[in-house]
Amino acid sequence: MSKQGKSAIVTGSTSGIGLAIATALAREGCDVMLNGLGDAAEIEATRARLAAETGRTILFSPANMMQPDEITAMVGEAEGAFGKVDVLVSNAGIQHVSPVEDFPVDKWNAVIAINLSAAFHLTRAVVPGMKARKHGRIVNIASAHSLVASPFKSAYVAAKHGLAGFTKTIALELATFGITANCISPGYVWTPLVERQIPDTMKARNLTREQVMNDVLLAAQPTKQFVQTDEVAALVLYLCSDAAKNITGANNVIDGGWTAA
Ligand code: NAD
Repeated sequence: MSKQGKSAIVTGSTSGIGLAIATALAREGCDVMLNGLGDAAEIEATRARLAAETGRTILFSPANMMQPDEITAMVGEAEGAFGKVDVLVSNAGIQHVSPVEDFPVDKWNAVIAINLSAAFHLTRAVVPGMKARKHGRIVNIASAHSLVASPFKSAYVAAKHGLAGFTKTIALELATFGITANCISPGYVWTPLVERQIPDTMKARNLTREQVMNDVLLAAQPTKQFVQTDEVAALVLYLCSDAAKNITGANNVIDGGWTAA
């Protein structure tokens, strides 16, 4: 698919992986609806920079992925502004780490809402237009935790396994409409979120920066390298291309070998 004249929604694109995906799509010629939380002035600076760099229409929606009405309204806004939504990337996600018996109920509900239910609300809103045009690309950013578990991440692992199952289901439903639906499942990706954990972990465990990176964060990643956000973005571009029209319902891992072990 040439991205010229195409349009995309990327949720959770004010930072990290989502921002890299939105940037890559815009550089390929897509108009993009950004979404996420954060400082309004910083977000506006990001939006304006991307618009100036790419010459594309770059919009921002502050829709909260915990609120179905706001999700539906955001899709309506994108369809109104762009005339259509060709690409949906459901990327917004949060984590909470706790033993299951202490897991706060509000945190469970938030993790499931943002990481799983939002993809349902987004999909049901974009699919009628995609079906009518017989074309669409849906990419859900899951995780290695859609395939394997880690202790104390019950909500995240449940949500990401659920997202993989949801993606397979819609892939089957949409298979004859020119619409593909796929997951990308990264291992540890180098984002500000990950980087910010290092100083605290160094202090808490009395370790060096290198020990935290290799023995704690990358313990499960055989390559001992973080995945980079632009590698995830490159896979999104490929899944959105014509060459990938027969890749649907797939869970595409990009995890340095984590889930091979
Ligand atoms: P990040 O914290 O840098 O970005 C998360 C984005 O989601 C931000 O833009 C944030 O504003 C947005 N967001 C959070 N709650 C929201 C809400 N209620 N409504 C709207 N937007 C909301 O994280 P990231 O590392 O870039 O993660 C992006 C996705 O990739 C997540 O789904 C995450 O589970 C997944 N992932 C990350 C890693 C990793 O190592 N970083 C690994 C595997 C999967």
